[in-house]
Amino acid sequence: MNIVIFGPPGAGKGTQSKFIVNKYKLHQLSTGDLLRKEISDNTELGLKISSIMNSGDLVSDEIVSNLIEKFISNEVFKNKIIFDGYPRSLSQAQNLDELLKKYNQKIDIVLKLSVSLKSVIKRILDRKELENRADDNKDIAIKRFKNYEKSSQMVLDYYKKSNLLRVVNGEAGIVEINSEISEIIDTIKG
Ligand code: AMP
Repeated sequence: MNIVIFGPPGAGKGTQSKFIVNKYKLHQLSTGDLLRKEISDNTELGLKISSIMNSGDLVSDEIVSNLIEKFISNEVFKNKIIFDGYPRSLSQAQNLDELLKKYNQKIDIVLKLSVSLKSVIKRILDRKELENRADDNKDIAIKRFKNYEKSSQMVLDYYKKSNLLRVVNGEAGIVEINSEISEIIDTIKG
């Protein structure tokens, strides 16, 4: 089973992905984590993207697509991926379908975490205390939320059409969200 977890920055996608990974033995593909690793490893790519990421803008589709193809093409992860932070636009959603098809896979479910801007800012500021991410401050959080709002509706419509979309109340507590997600996944697994 391949899952997409979708929602604004700070919605809890990372936290919920880790829960799903443990419970259903999947592998988390967080494009943000992969990109941050390039930066902390000081790779050529990392140097190229660090200012873009720190300012809250998106890196190019091509860069992110190359990173996810490496993951998708790996037999170890086949049909066991949770996509966290990808896709973020309609073109990325279409690209993901094409890449999965190339490796004989598909998306089984898209979980959308619904969270307000107010909660997102609070969570991002709480996370700043723990992780000290360069892009976790109030102004950049607002910019990232606005970026999300610009492109998210088209992505959601795309998945609604293929009947893959399930909306989860991301304002609830972590444990409640865990159990709502489990119920949805268990229904799909049958
Ligand atoms: P995240 O950890 O998902 O909040 O992502 C942090 C940052 O990584 C974003 O603000 C972007 O700069 C970059 N990023 C992550 N995923 C993508 C993506 N799918 N497309 C473009 N940029 C991305």
